[in-house]
Amino acid sequence: MANDPIDPVCGMQVDKDSAAAQVEYKGETYYFCAIGCKERFEENPEKFIERIQEPQKQQ
Ligand SMILES: [Zn+2]
Repeated sequence: MANDPIDPVCGMQVDKDSAAAQVEYKGETYYFCAIGCKERFEENPEKFIERIQEPQKQQ
């Protein structure tokens, strides 16, 4: 459960199997609760990725 992906746009935890949309960006897969979130992500991926990155995960 702890590994459920976070929708980077709205911050919701998304179940991979029921995600409304997914996008592959720079080798990572992002999951979204709604198509609208995916569209917002695609307009400005970097902004949303920055938001969900945990400090200790930066490499
Ligand atoms: Zn969302």
